[in-house]
This record gives sequence, C-alpha cells and structure tokens, in this order.
Amino acid sequence: MKILKIQTLRGPNYWSIRRHKVIVMRLDLEDLAPKPTSLIPGFYQGLVEALPSLVDHYCSPGCRGGFLSRVQEGTYMGHVVEHVALELQELAGMIVGFGRTRETSTPGTYQVAFEYVDEQAGRYAARAAVRLCRSIVDTGRYPASELEQDLQDLKDLAAKASLGPSTETLIKEAEAREIPWFHSSARSMIQLGTGIYQKRLQATLTDRSSILGVELACDKEGTKKTLRDAGVPVPRGTLIHYLDELQEAIDEVGGYPIVIKPLDGNHGRGITIDINSWEEAEEAYDAATTASKTRSVIVERYYKGRDHRVLVVNGKLIAVAERVPAHAIGNGKSTIQELIEETNRDPNRGDGHDNVLTRIQVDRMSMQILERKGYSLDTVLKEGEVCYLRYTANLSTGGIAIDRTDEIHPENLWMAERIAKLIGLDICGIDVVTPDISQPLRENDGVIVEVNAAPGFRMHVCPSQGLPRNVAAPVMEMLFPTGTPSRIPILAVTGTNGKTTTTRLLAHIYKQTGKTIGYTTTDGTYIGDFIVEKGDNTGPQSAELILKDPTVEVAVLETARGGILRSGLAFDRCDVGVVLNVSADHLGIGDIDTIEQMATLKSVLAESVDTKGYAILNAEDPLVVKMAKRVKSQIAYFSMDPENEILQNHVRNGGLGAVYENGYLSIIKGDWTLRIEQAVNVPLTMAGLAPFMIANALAAALAAYSNGVPIEQIRSGLASFEASVAQTPGRMNLFNMGTYHALVDYAHNPASYEALGGFVRNWPGETIGVIGGPGDRRDEDLTNLGKLSAEIFNQIIVKEDNDTRGRPRGNAAHFICEGIAQANGSAAYQTIINETEAIETALNSAPSGSLVVILPESVSRAINLIEKRKPLEEPRIPL
Ligand code: ATP
Ligand code: ATP
Ligand code: MG
Ligand code: MG
Repeated sequence: MKILKIQTLRGPNYWSIRRHKVIVMRLDLEDLAPKPTSLIPGFYQGLVEALPSLVDHYCSPGCRGGFLSRVQEGTYMGHVVEHVALELQELAGMIVGFGRTRETSTPGTYQVAFEYVDEQAGRYAARAAVRLCRSIVDTGRYPASELEQDLQDLKDLAAKASLGPSTETLIKEAEAREIPWFHSSARSMIQLGTGIYQKRLQATLTDRSSILGVELACDKEGTKKTLRDAGVPVPRGTLIHYLDELQEAIDEVGGYPIVIKPLDGNHGRGITIDINSWEEAEEAYDAATTASKTRSVIVERYYKGRDHRVLVVNGKLIAVAERVPAHAIGNGKSTIQELIEETNRDPNRGDGHDNVLTRIQVDRMSMQILERKGYSLDTVLKEGEVCYLRYTANLSTGGIAIDRTDEIHPENLWMAERIAKLIGLDICGIDVVTPDISQPLRENDGVIVEVNAAPGFRMHVCPSQGLPRNVAAPVMEMLFPTGTPSRIPILAVTGTNGKTTTTRLLAHIYKQTGKTIGYTTTDGTYIGDFIVEKGDNTGPQSAELILKDPTVEVAVLETARGGILRSGLAFDRCDVGVVLNVSADHLGIGDIDTIEQMATLKSVLAESVDTKGYAILNAEDPLVVKMAKRVKSQIAYFSMDPENEILQNHVRNGGLGAVYENGYLSIIKGDWTLRIEQAVNVPLTMAGLAPFMIANALAAALAAYSNGVPIEQIRSGLASFEASVAQTPGRMNLFNMGTYHALVDYAHNPASYEALGGFVRNWPGETIGVIGGPGDRRDEDLTNLGKLSAEIFNQIIVKEDNDTRGRPRGNAAHFICEGIAQANGSAAYQTIINETEAIETALNSAPSGSLVVILPESVSRAINLIEKRKPLEEPRIPL
C-alpha cells in the first residue's frame, strides 16, 4: 500500500456537509488491490486481535459487529484502513464516527475519507492505520507495543493542540450558540464572530477587559489599597524590600501568625502562610524574594479560614468555589507517600491543566510543610487525619474545588460585584479567605486576599463536589447579547463560468448600501475600494481573511472548485449561495472525473446555505436544478427565459426568481414582476448583446435582492458597473478601434466559448476570431473548439500558445483546424502559429463594422497590442 496524498478538510466538503473535519487519503493498494480481506489468510483474526473494539463499528449492516462481518465476508483494504483510522482516534479519546471510502477512476487507488478531531492526530491516524493493516497482512498481527505507542502519540498530538480548559469551555459555549470562531494568528487569541461583529478572547481575557483593570489586579498592593480605601476588608500588611525591614513589618501587622509572599507572584509561587517564628519568617522571606522579579515582598497578617474563589462576569456574581489545597486523608494504614499515589491514580487527575484535576506533586514546599509538622513521606496518618501538602489551593498544584455558589451571603455577593467594578474587570476572580462564606465577611474576620484578571474556569465547570456551573454562558452573553449578530452576511458564488464577473458585480451592487464589502476573486482580495492582495484568491484562506477582517460588513466570496476540493469551505454556512452553471472543465483533476461529480462538488456551496438564506440556482442548467433536492435553504431561480418551466413552477408557488423579459432584468416574486433595469442600460451586458452577461447580472441581482438589498440600489449598481479592462483584464474587454471593434476574452472551455458565441452572433457586422487552445487539453477538446469556432465566426485565424504544454509545435493548431473543417467545409480560416503575428494580421485586415475576437495566451500582451493602436473611449457598442 502506498499513501499518495493526505488532505485535511476544515469546512463543508465533497464528502459531507455536516462533518467539517475530514482527512482524505489517496491510497494505492498496490498488491492488495485485487485481494478482498477474505482472501488474505489470518487477516480477520489478526485485526480482531489487534483492535477488538472494532466490533462497535456498525458500518453498512447497521448493527454491532457489522463492520467485522464485512471484513470476514471480504471487503477491500481501503475500507479497512478507514475504520482502523477512526478506531485509533477513538481509542486515543477523540470521538469520531464519519468515514467513506471510494475507488477512484484509477483501478486499485482509493480515496479514504474519515473524520478527525485534531488535524495532526488525524493525519497520524491515517498513516498508522495503513501501517497496522500492512503489518497484519504481512505477519498476521500488530504488536501491542506498537499500538500502545501509536495511541500515546495520538494522545500527545491531541494534548499539544488543546486550547486549555477555560478557552475550551468558552469555545464550547460559542459553538452551542452557533457563534463561529477562528484561531488568531498571534498570542493564542481566539476570534469569535466574523467581520465587524468579531470579539476576541485570550483564555478568560476579552477585548473588553480593561488594560487598567488588568494591571491593577496584577498589582497586589495597588489592589489592596484601592479596596481598603473603598471600605472592603483586606489583610493588614506592608511591603518591604530588605530583610532589615522584616521585623518591623511583622510588628506592624500585629505579630504572628503571618503570611509572606512576593508582590508580583501568581499560582502560589513563593508564598508561605501561617508563619509563627522568626526562623520561618526568614526562610519565607528568601522564598518570596526569589519568586519576585522586583524583589518586593508583602508581609501580611495571617487570616484563618477557607479559601474561596468568587467569579464575577459583566458585573454579576456567577460562581463561588471553595478551594482546598492538595492534601492526603489518613486511613490508619497507609503512608503519606502511598496516599498521594492513591489520589494520583484518579483518572480525573492529569498533568498541568489538561484534565479536570491535576496530580499532586511532592516538592520543596510539601516537604517543608511536612517537616514543620514533624512528618515525612513515610508517616502513617491516623484514620481521617487531613494532612495538607500545599499552602495554596490552586487546582494546578493538586487542589480540589467545591461549589459554594448557592451558599454565599447576600452581603458578600454585593461586595464581590462591587469589587469587580472597583478594580474594573469584566471577568473577575476574587480570592476570599473566610471561615464561612455564608456569613458576612465583616462578622467573622474574612478578607479579600487578591483579585485576579483572567481567572481560570476549571474549578467552576468541573468542581470535585457540588454543582458544575456554566460560567462560559454569561461571558458569551456579555460579548454577544441575545438578539445581536455574531455573523456578517456571506454571499458566495460558484459555477464553472462567470464566477468572477458575478462576484464583482454582486459586491458592487452591495456597495450601493454604503456598507464595507470584503470580496475575493480570481484576481485578488478586496476590501471596500482597495485591493488587499493580488492573485487567485478563490480558496478558503482568502475567504478567511475577509471573515476575520474587523472592518468588513458583508462578505462576497468567489468560491472555486479547487478550494472546496482541497480544504472544504471556509465557513460552516452562508446566507446566499449562487451556483451559476456546471459544465465540463477541470475534469480529471483531484478525482473529479465526471460532470456529475463536479456538480456534487459545486453543490457543497448550495447545501451549505443557512435554512433562512437563499440558494440562487440557474433554472436553465439541469445539473444546477438537480441541487434543489439537496438544498436545506430557500431557493430562488434565475433564467434568461421568462417561460422557463422550473422557474415558472417555482414562482407560481410563491417562490422568488429573476428573468430577462422584454429587454428587462426583472425579479419575479409570486405573481409580481419587479422590473430592475433594461439590459441596454446595464453596461456589463454589452448593450444587451451578451446573453451570458445578462444571466450573470440576473444571478447577482437576485442574490442581492434575496439578502435584502432594495431594488433601487440594485438598479444603481447594475447601471454603474463597468467590467473595465483595468478591473477585469481578459473578461470580455471590448475596444472601439474607430472603424471596427476588438474584444479580448479568456474563454477557455466549451461552455464559455458557447457563451461568447452568444454575444458574437448578436454582433451586427462581420466577425473574426483569433483562437487557440492550451496544449494540455485532449485532442478531441481541441477539435471541438475548432467546431465551435466554425459555428461562431465568419473568419478564423488559428494560432498557438508559446507554451505548447508538451505538444509538438503546430499539433494543437492541426486539431483545431480539423474541427473547423469538419463543422464547415467552406469555412474561411488560416493558421498563423505566432500569437502576436496572428493578432496583428487580424487587426490590420478588420473590415469596417467588424468585431475581432481575440482569445489570447497572454491577456496583457494582447491588450498592449490593441492599446498601441489607440482605441477610442466612447461609444463602445454599435446598436
Ligand atoms: P494565585 O495566582 O493562585 O491567585 P498568588 O500567588 O497570587 O496565587 P495569593 O492569591 O496572594 O497568591 O495567595 C494565595 C493563597 O494563599 C490565597 O488564595 C490564600 O488561600 C492564601 N493567603 C494569601 N494571603 C493570605 C492571608 N493574608 N491570610 C490567609 N491566607 C492567605
Ligand atoms: P475562473 O474559473 O477562471 O475564475 P470565472 O468563473 O471566474 O472563471 P469569469 O472570470 O467571470 O469566470 O469569466 C470568464 C469567462 O467565462 C468570461 O470571459 C466569459 O467568456 C465566460 N463566461 C462568463 N460568464 C459566463 C456564463 N454565465 N456562462 C458561460 N460563460 C461565461
Ligand atoms: Mg490568588
Ligand atoms: Mg474567477
């Protein structure tokens, strides 16, 4: 078996609209191609032994053991690899289910598509699955040690990619609210929402977190002072920089017991509590200075009590957790060491923040605490005796949390909400030490020890005891209050021909609303009137650039086949999805071999339209009309023919459509015809002579209308859109040469040829075509091009590209001429291989009133040749 390619899809795709995360592996089965599993001795047995849990894969039989029975009866290796790749991920703790395997048009080569959770892990699973299957074929088994290593690697990859517990919680909530999210390029920030509606997160900091509030919270002395001045109880304490000052400081706070901690610490680093002697104090001072960047140390009175974290979001108290430091509870038999090991065996405990709880690590501080009690790790604790192993209750040092949200006293609640405002934090974690949170602090000597910006959510979401609290919900509610949008409208355009034209026109129409439009096309990415990036930007990366841009109010996205195939759509859903047409082009690339497969691929866009949105479908293209069955959204049809039956049926039932009737581009809504504009007043339609441009204009107008753009603005958009040479070089660029006209177009497949023909045939005078075809097309494609040309032009000059793409010079021209002769025995044509020479000849000999149509290899070279002849500005079209 040989892996030919592994692709990672991230949005709605050819394989599934709903499952966005799919790995597609192109796999050559080589020697295994002719061998179903039933003919490989020992394979079934070996597979069951290696992965017994495959029994849970239902597969096509739809019951437990279904897949394994297929292996027993005989299935092909690609299919087995798919199931193994899924199962490996499952065993590593990633929940996946979707998979499909298809043979390609190359016999023995398969496409194996399966779901993933983490990209890297998914790609790893693909390779590991092939390895596993190969090993079982060759040796009848896959060593358990190898499998264990695979699973460990998969887990490591997943852990490396995981976002941290607080972020994870917030993203889950965002997804539940259908708020889209992206990774930001920098600083592990997350973008929620699209375009102008976006908000940012970094762990539990938001783009609303005030920098002043965050800095104040990080300054423990400043915080304490602010709170003390506002009458909030805080520990009595003082700040020192030298050991000399320690004794005086201790006296000042009222003597022992005291606490010593670094001014700028966190996670309990460098802190010692419940200090009762000078000796301990000296040692604690050292620990604190070492942990402080500024060597500033806080000396505080020690307040006895339990440690609580109070979470306030957007001014409201959301959750209260009591935090208990890492500890061991005796049973009268086990040593402290054994008790810790026992505790750490809890599957809920992991390393760092990667699980609900963190394993207890014995460190210098734990040893010191034990020492102070006269204990060691070998001490056997009495039944029920609690021995703490940390001073501080951070979850990340092995502590646990108990939910106390419902117990907090109303006065404390009021105080907490007030503190969040005093410090100025939208998400605020307040550390409270008090013997009993259900009593007012004032009554039992409770204090606010610290205020935290970016507080962790783990202790509230997964407390060890008590009710888990959805603390992410109020954060999302703050960022995106119910009823406010998180998504800008997305209008996407696909089809074989006319995408760029329609996208540009649609963007131009939408601009009439005064909004900032971000759009992507084959020639570049644009925001408003400016270009962001030149180049073929019709894939998901460019789309993402627009969706991530904080100035964009509406996205209009040319969405080409290549990007959908390579990585799926850049968005989970869109508001308007236009499918212009499906015809034979790009077949044979990326395992899309038939026009039906091409239609399925383009249908991904139509099927990704939101239920409330519109799929805009070409009623005259049967392959596009077929998509209607799979679409979940509303549908609107466009047609050049007002009598088109599909469209008529649709509007008769109250549906929406657009047609070309009596020289007008019109919207049809139920019984009503809303005339937008006469084609002669829409420059793009070349005074109404170019039928396919009318069709593109209908699609764009209908798309805009379905998304709420008023008719008047659609009209002014249509009337003011010029497909100028500068804007769209090579797209129906018409030049008035004085006595004749010249047209440069990039038509490169039969359908666009046909479309161009529609315009040329409407031309009132003589027509001369300067044509050629890329050498990498099939012979019959070139002949066909010749045939089409013979039916379109009065005279033809056949030329060739400089780049013959592997053909001998003259060979492509030969097949084109053959086509011309076949279609019309008396056709007027000649061959001038050199493109420049061919163009010059045509322009030199153009009769008055004629149209010279140039289909060049290089658009800019052709346009240069024409511009040297100084074309006139206006008027452009002879009527
Ligand atoms: P974190 O980053 O986890 O918030 P930190 O390093 O910022 O910790 P503090 O929050 O100041 O340190 O203190 C950690 C814990 O130590 C407190 O939550 C509290 O349990 C205890 N503590 C700190 N100061 C006192 C005090 N004066 N009296 C009693 N306990 C205290
Ligand atoms: P590409 O795949 O190269 O990006 P595109 O789909 O973006 O192409 P356009 O750039 O808008 O298409 O147009 C390219 C050419 O296709 C036009 O110059 C014209 O010859 C032809 N064309 C445009 N619209 C249509 C249409 N609706 N039907 C058929 N052909 C069309
Ligand atoms: Mg703290
Ligand atoms: Mg294009």
